[in-house]
Amino acid sequence: MLKKVLIANRGEIAVRIIRACAEMGIRSVAIYTEPDRYGLHVKRADEAYSLGDDPIAGYLDPQKIVSLAKQVGCDAIHPGYGFLSENAEFARLCEEQGVRFIGPKSEVIHKMGDKTQARDSMRAAGVPVTPGSEGNLKDLDDALALAGEIGYPVMLKATSGGGGRGIRRCDSADELRTQYPRVISEATKAFGSAEVFLEKCIVNPRHIEVQILADSQGNVIHLYERDCSIQRRNQKLIEIAPSPQLTPEQRNYIGGLAVTAAEAVGYENAGTVEFLLTGNEVYFMEMNTRVQVEHTITEQITGVDIVREQLRVAAGLPLSYRQQDISYRGFALQFRINAEDPKNDFLPSFGRVSHYYAPGGPGVRVDTAIYTGYEIPPYYDSMCLKLVVWALQWEDVIARGERALDDMRLHGIRTTASYYKQILQHPDFRAADFNTSFVPEHPELLQYSEKKHPTEMALAIATALAAHAGW
Ligand code: ADP
Ligand code: ADP
Ligand code: MG
Repeated sequence: MLKKVLIANRGEIAVRIIRACAEMGIRSVAIYTEPDRYGLHVKRADEAYSLGDDPIAGYLDPQKIVSLAKQVGCDAIHPGYGFLSENAEFARLCEEQGVRFIGPKSEVIHKMGDKTQARDSMRAAGVPVTPGSEGNLKDLDDALALAGEIGYPVMLKATSGGGGRGIRRCDSADELRTQYPRVISEATKAFGSAEVFLEKCIVNPRHIEVQILADSQGNVIHLYERDCSIQRRNQKLIEIAPSPQLTPEQRNYIGGLAVTAAEAVGYENAGTVEFLLTGNEVYFMEMNTRVQVEHTITEQITGVDIVREQLRVAAGLPLSYRQQDISYRGFALQFRINAEDPKNDFLPSFGRVSHYYAPGGPGVRVDTAIYTGYEIPPYYDSMCLKLVVWALQWEDVIARGERALDDMRLHGIRTTASYYKQILQHPDFRAADFNTSFVPEHPELLQYSEKKHPTEMALAIATALAAHAGW
């Protein structure tokens, strides 16, 4: 087994990985930049090292991170999600320097991180792919010609994009002309690559993704699917496992496709194959070669600790499960609680968490790195807490979600929590009938009034008194 792991990340996912290490008797090493000095990952890890004053640079510096890992005697690096997690060069540097990268081989990251290459590999493996480009677009004329062929609407996408950015829907040639330079500029700025491609826009699809685990012995299994159709601007807000909108036949078919996809590229470690569904049509969209934000809900329904499996696989051990060992039970929902003001166009709302009271009780899990008094730095992702609920039945998981959102007290910043309660109350959500257009089609859900809860008032007063008294 691994002895000491460096976690090249921050926030809740760093804490999640540290927890898995602690349970497995593996020493954990955190890295941080100065704005993160008081981060929970720094407090919770067995050791922590500063990588400088710049808020971001340290987390994105392959050389520095790998040197540190070697210097302090780590045998592996877990990249988490975001940052360097899908950076093939980083994985390659780890391989060269004899530190295990907890993820697939660098060439697999390279192949799947490039969305057009991934589409090519999937076509070759017989996995249905969204109709569109073969390779990247050469120029605007190339884009216009292809769009004319496949028909509007089309999606123009950054080849190395991620996090919902660098994607634009174009409903006409005129729109494509306008969006083309915009997507190129966004892609260059955000991902350092001007490559773009185009695919058919699937109208009102459901986003269904399959969790994969694969070991170095060639065993590949899936842990069923997640429904991530509740999105705003192509970013996930609420995730559900399993999808309440699939038949058992669709579920098995998609699970099988994901395994085929992973096998086709010699995949190793945890990964996610994302699909778009419309009616009975399934299209491969992309593969994320890392642990995902929403891995939690799969853990809740299957009982498999995905990060633990990642660490085992990186150590060269076989998976703890065969496909026939995997079953799921009940439903899980994850709410991405973002430090954003839903009533003000989701404007980021960073600052000091003056009071935080965690939700709890049956079927509730919280993954977060915040605590009372924590100052949320403005430099990073606005997601500050993942609230996960589980129950046997669909109606019950919704009720539990509402109750847990009500349990939570998070003062000092604005969050998306109250907006999620509105979504849970919508009849279409309750009837498990929604697609990726749900959020844009229901702007009225943002028109709720925020009532101050009596205990919220009492807590605010108590916090103020405590601060005054210097407790
Ligand atoms: P998930 O599918 O795990 O929800 P997201 O696409 O939401 O993944 O991304 C998870 C995190 O990684 C987010 O913080 C997102 O901003 C970041 N991220 C994902 N892909 C990229 C990328 N190519 N470049 C930079 N950040 C990324
Ligand atoms: P990212 O790498 O940013 O996660 P994805 O390719 O996974 O990008 O797409 C993110 C989201 O954008 C999807 O979940 C879906 O809602 C929307 N989307 C992407 N491609 C299409 C498409 N061809 N048709 C319709 N919606 C799409
Ligand atoms: Mg995606």
